[in-house]
Amino acid sequence: MQYSLMELPYPKDALEPMISARTLEYHYGKHHAGYVEKLNGLIKDTEFETKSLIELIKHAEGAIFNNAAQVYNHDFYWTNLSNKPTKPSLELESHIRSEFGSMDAFEKEFQTKALGLFGSGWVWLCIDKQENLSIVTTSNADNPIRSGLIPLMVCDVWEHAYYLDYQNARAEYLANFFKLLNWKFISFNFANHQEHAQNYFSHVCKENTPYCEYLDSLEEMEKVST
Ligand code: MN
Repeated sequence: MQYSLMELPYPKDALEPMISARTLEYHYGKHHAGYVEKLNGLIKDTEFETKSLIELIKHAEGAIFNNAAQVYNHDFYWTNLSNKPTKPSLELESHIRSEFGSMDAFEKEFQTKALGLFGSGWVWLCIDKQENLSIVTTSNADNPIRSGLIPLMVCDVWEHAYYLDYQNARAEYLANFFKLLNWKFISFNFANHQEHAQNYFSHVCKENTPYCEYLDSLEEMEKVST
């Protein structure tokens, strides 16, 4: 299988002023596109060509793992942002409250972990098989699926995600990142986390509605299994 760069679920300037069109041009148009291209080159005519992206993340090593995970991580990142105001589902909100105390406490803990991550990486809200939520940081391309967790939400804290707009002010980027969250998508991931862990959702969420995402995820499952 050859991968293609996902379509953004919004125009390139939709996240301004928090994330500029210029950042999207580089981050999506060069970095993300570069990982897709590199992955396609690496898997061509190898045993990995027939594997799904989730399988590559679980089992591949080295450059194939790095590029596969970066494709997935960026797909996830763009999809969990929105130019429209959204709210978490009541179920997710109550789960976050019972785990972290309050939505504010969750945001604060997420930002503290993101600020404390040295170098390049990702910060995730994950759920495990016992339904416990946790905030997890991963370095470079690493992905929590690798350790059996199911990602619900992610923030890219590589400098390329914010340097053009914020230079070294990671805290400011993080505060604005929270204003752009697509809680519909995150709530959908929470509600469907058993299935979600198995599926590659690259092209979900063009409309930013859970229904559309669900249909797209079914379509994606078919692609992966054929
Ligand atoms: Mn990135």
